[in-house]
Amino acid sequence: MSLIKIEAIFSCDGCGNRFTANLDPAGKLSDSWTLFDQAVDTIKNGILAYSVEAGMHLCSKCTKLVCRDKRFVDRDPTEEEIEQLLAENACHICGMLTTMREYAHGRPLCLDCFGRSSP
Ligand SMILES: [Zn+2]
Ligand SMILES: [Zn+2]
Repeated sequence: MSLIKIEAIFSCDGCGNRFTANLDPAGKLSDSWTLFDQAVDTIKNGILAYSVEAGMHLCSKCTKLVCRDKRFVDRDPTEEEIEQLLAENACHICGMLTTMREYAHGRPLCLDCFGRSSP
């Protein structure tokens, strides 16, 4: 096959970062499916670090934050809870979403700001 790759580029509904899912070029769409449905299915059920939570398309970083939150082990988060969770994990200096909070006394800190603040 000469078609090598179909890329679906999402803008994360959590943090706004872009992420890409590769669609199967040989994949068949069912009658009622659009390419969008196919792309969403790929991030939902594919072997990627992305996810769809409460209808939000999430990048790997946001997915990681949601997945490791103990509240959401037994149930799915709501959109409001996701937004709150992401707000709680924005770097306290630059506002960028981060999965690091260990180094700043429990406050979220991104790698860049961590690098700048350490001697
Ligand atoms: Zn994100
Ligand atoms: Zn920062």
